[in-house]
Amino acid sequence: MPADVVHILTVQEILHALSPDIRLSSRVRRQRALILQAVDQLDADTQRRLTEVAQAKSDAIRAEQERVGNGRRVRRWIGDEQILSDSSSGDVSESDFLSVPSADVIKDCYQQFFEATSNDTMQSMVCSVCARRMRVAISNFRDVPLNAIPNRHRLQPAHPHSNAELVQGMLLKPSAIGIHDDIPFARLCSQCWTALQSQSNHPPRYALANGLWLGEVPFLLDQLTMPEHLLIARKFPRVYIMKLFARSRRGHPDTLQQALKGNVSTFDLNTHKIVDMLDGTLLPQRPDILPSVLSICYVGRRLPSRDSLRGTFRVRRSVVRQALIWLKVHNSKYYGDITVDDGRLSQLPSDDIPEEIWSTIRHDAEDVHIDEEQAGYVPDDENDVPESDS
Ligand SMILES: [Zn+2]
Repeated sequence: MPADVVHILTVQEILHALSPDIRLSSRVRRQRALILQAVDQLDADTQRRLTEVAQAKSDAIRAEQERVGNGRRVRRWIGDEQILSDSSSGDVSESDFLSVPSADVIKDCYQQFFEATSNDTMQSMVCSVCARRMRVAISNFRDVPLNAIPNRHRLQPAHPHSNAELVQGMLLKPSAIGIHDDIPFARLCSQCWTALQSQSNHPPRYALANGLWLGEVPFLLDQLTMPEHLLIARKFPRVYIMKLFARSRRGHPDTLQQALKGNVSTFDLNTHKIVDMLDGTLLPQRPDILPSVLSICYVGRRLPSRDSLRGTFRVRRSVVRQALIWLKVHNSKYYGDITVDDGRLSQLPSDDIPEEIWSTIRHDAEDVHIDEEQAGYVPDDENDVPESDS
């Protein structure tokens, strides 16, 4: 079946042309790409019927274009006066070039645009094997019963962690496993599916079973800001340099939070100097360590207000305390010997940017640097809609 012919049909037109006894799953019916794949596997009669429908539509569009083109009235401007003239009268040369598309063509373009940007098309799924979230339209997921996964032994971890939850001996993402008709199935991305079918004895490159399993991040740790992370850390191998700049050149400092963008660079640290600052097993770290491991530079004419940066650099005393208590219990290898010190905790703000960070933020207001940042990362558009990228 010539694909370029059938592609002219919308999803509704394809489904309408199919015989009622041809049943596509609801998942397939929601996506144009999957429908076209399924159609490609159907019998010759069905493909012939679809080709006829597509050909008829193509003929109708062409006839409509000719009809509209012949009678089209072309707008011309002479000075300030608008003149409507008939293109068929021959007084204008614009015939095919920049011809106005027919209503059906426009409607079909809209239809294809809606389909290409619909929620279904943008839908994403998580692969059971590699736990990556990917767009369905690109990754071509397939549901495979657990007992039908090819070369299942390659998903058995060599040294499973005691907290890892194995499924039939395989290290999979539990939340990405479903059940159809009481049969458990895994959802595989095309990359993992292809890799598992190969003759290799190794797990797929991005499989959790390939030493990439980390487990779920507990909420108490997941909610920490970067300064809070640093305050509960026991080792500091890197220093973090954060460079922020305003997405828009306009805006009041109090409202710039939604219009900040930036990047983080990391550099190896002079660990000996840092070790000297750490003492004993008391945690959290003293806040005066923060300027040594975290540097912030803001590029813009006006420094944002403290409130606008609070979401990114805040330190919450209670959150730090809860995280340390959790780590002491659940990560005894590295935190079992620590003492959660109330004196240290009292040095932290209850919910604010520590003065040690705020007082050391560098501010670069040089026009040339501002222009470089604007040109390098964001569109130079004064009316750009702010995004929360900071
Ligand atoms: Zn995968």
